[in-house]
Amino acid sequence: MQPSGRIRPRRAVALASVTALTLAVSTSAGTGHHTAGTLTATGAGPIALARSSPLRPCMISGRPTVQMSEGVPTARGYSRSTGTVHALTVMVDFPDTPGPGRALDRFAEFFPQTQDWFRTSSYGRLDYRPRTPIPGWLRMPKSFRAYGIERGAPFDPGYRQLVQDIVAAADPKVDFRSYDFLNVLVTPNAGPSALDTVLSVSFAGNTEAPVADGVSVANASFVYSRQDDGSGSYRRTGYRVLPHENGHVFGLPDLYTAEGGGAVGHWDIMSEDWGANNDLLGWHKWKLGWLDAAQVRCATASGTTDYELTPLAREGGPKLVFVPLDRRSGYAVELRTREGNDETVCRPGVLIYKVDADVDTGMGPVKVHDSRPDSGGCTRSPNVHAELSDATFVPGEEFRDSERGVRVSVVGADLTGSYRVRVTRE
Ligand SMILES: [Zn+2]
Repeated sequence: MQPSGRIRPRRAVALASVTALTLAVSTSAGTGHHTAGTLTATGAGPIALARSSPLRPCMISGRPTVQMSEGVPTARGYSRSTGTVHALTVMVDFPDTPGPGRALDRFAEFFPQTQDWFRTSSYGRLDYRPRTPIPGWLRMPKSFRAYGIERGAPFDPGYRQLVQDIVAAADPKVDFRSYDFLNVLVTPNAGPSALDTVLSVSFAGNTEAPVADGVSVANASFVYSRQDDGSGSYRRTGYRVLPHENGHVFGLPDLYTAEGGGAVGHWDIMSEDWGANNDLLGWHKWKLGWLDAAQVRCATASGTTDYELTPLAREGGPKLVFVPLDRRSGYAVELRTREGNDETVCRPGVLIYKVDADVDTGMGPVKVHDSRPDSGGCTRSPNVHAELSDATFVPGEEFRDSERGVRVSVVGADLTGSYRVRVTRE
């Protein structure tokens, strides 16, 4: 199938070279291009809310020029992120770099860990089913080098050719209509070591992707070499590049920036997907449809209002308070504790961050407010951004934005682990 039209150039997400102890580790690459769909409050996305919803003022959105936005609801074109999703997963190799060992061993680097990760993070709302209708290596017709794949490579021409070749090779055994998105687990010996360059990338919401069996291969994640990052947790946590890449497929932007993980630290897998396990922000869980409307409170009222928060990692109960500042941005407030996917939380407490739907992927759409700036942090976990690890607010502490007349104070915690926060809007 011939592509029509011209694909907007992919934003070159600056490469984050994160110095961690003795090793430089960079995360997976940014997203592919996508066309910002029409934002509708009653759209087909995971969050369908009536215009009269009390959450409406918290449904911030970015301008249409933003490629991949933190806005709610998520633009159309991405994969569904609730219910049962089927991930067509192929292990690909090349004539110049034949896959070592069994392809299913490559698969086992990522599964079942990835589906477990999503089940835990989504409270069971995302039933992620990887499928390998081709259990062996899927051999491409050209050498790896011939595709011209390097870090930051756009979709055209190399990735388009690769996807077309995958479709052609798989088509006799695969009905592409049966799948929600594509995982390409490239043989780890193709391309540079991940210690030199991380090639992993997703092309998400790609409206001009090749078509197979009548459906567009619009959402695809590619994972390459994953080298031990020296954190000591690689065998257990090295798979986390895939949930990060699949996060893009579900419409989540990159939270690391050219400066690395300094904006959000280890509080979201879209910020740091290396080192110890971590969860997603409550904002992302709402965006993905994993929180009910009743679990999100929109703090619009002037004066003082108290809210209860239960640990984000735990199923049920109120999870997120959002304080909108304008149509595009606001403050999110949530409770983070050491449980579930969050294994490095060293200062349980209330995390407060600014979300700006008008800031694009990789440019810092989320910024965590550090309750203890320049403390050096509390984590001793290697390859985790340390400074923000103690960013949380504990009972008795208060966050202030005097300019915008917003205060959030942590009033207390009870025996069940719930916290009470007090939002004051002048
Ligand atoms: Zn990314």
